[in-house]
Amino acid sequence: MTDMIGWQFRNWRRGNTRYPYVLMLEPLHTCNLACIGCSPERYNGDLKDRLPLQDCLQAVDECGAPVVSICGGEPTIYPELSELVDAIIARKRHIYLCTNGLLLERYFKKGRPHKRLSINVHIDGMRATHDMVTDRAGVFDKAIEMIKEGKRLGYHVCTNTTIYRETNMDEIEEMCGFLQGIGVDGILISPGYHYEKLKENHFLFKNEVHEKFKRVLELSKKYRLYSTPLFLQFAAGQRDYPCTPWGNPTRTPKGWKGPCYLIEGGYYKTWQEFWTGVDWDYWEKRVDAKCQDCLMHSGFEPSVVRHLGASPRDLLTMAKWNFVA
Ligand code: SF4
Repeated sequence: MTDMIGWQFRNWRRGNTRYPYVLMLEPLHTCNLACIGCSPERYNGDLKDRLPLQDCLQAVDECGAPVVSICGGEPTIYPELSELVDAIIARKRHIYLCTNGLLLERYFKKGRPHKRLSINVHIDGMRATHDMVTDRAGVFDKAIEMIKEGKRLGYHVCTNTTIYRETNMDEIEEMCGFLQGIGVDGILISPGYHYEKLKENHFLFKNEVHEKFKRVLELSKKYRLYSTPLFLQFAAGQRDYPCTPWGNPTRTPKGWKGPCYLIEGGYYKTWQEFWTGVDWDYWEKRVDAKCQDCLMHSGFEPSVVRHLGASPRDLLTMAKWNFVA
């Protein structure tokens, strides 16, 4: 929190109105699973096409965001993962290492716990649901085994859950109680939203997200959820924000992805081309058809931060949440 406030203060002093908060770093598009919520471009890639370590670190330096989310693909398949984590920590950035957990043992053999590192394990429900979403029996049990092992070794471990149309919210409550019971440090819950390109019926339209997230808002009073209370109110339809697509810039093996983590509008070779080439004014307004049902945390958690100064009451809500969380 203090690093994020410092970053905002430095940007405010420089007169920057647009700047990144979290770098979404995808060093590879190779995965050992093909989950229903994931697009094939993120799991079909060849390992030999991965981003070299130096390119990953150049992205961290050029973007400058205080938080780096290492995702993919499956980061534990990336051969240089422990070197990447160590080099990002040496740059005094914070890391969310997003993983399905299956190969976490590989990382645990080479890595070490650090206060700037959070292991973020994907869990979309209890055993039957998670194994159905990941399309493989045994994934839930292995992920839970690795969460327990991570806690035993002294890592900060959180989880990441996507809510789909079929998601049973009673089961999500059961999952929150279970995960908290095994010592998980925080639970991130985000909506799987519907956009034109998707053929599947698992994804939610905006009104469906609102209904599901009214329940998530209730759960946030009982469990350690990582989503901010203001984002959860937004997802529940109780407040509105413009998008902040530049808040979570995405670096992939194909280049910088614009306009946002979700939409494959174009890939840019350099940070400069990306930062000056995307029409932020257009995407911020959410007028594009692809944005109509989007309530993704990657687009709107930065909006919460960006608009905090507008309301002392919101500032107080966030200050309270920070101290409790
Ligand atoms: S509203 Fe969603 S899909 Fe549209 S630019 Fe923002 S994050 Fe991307």
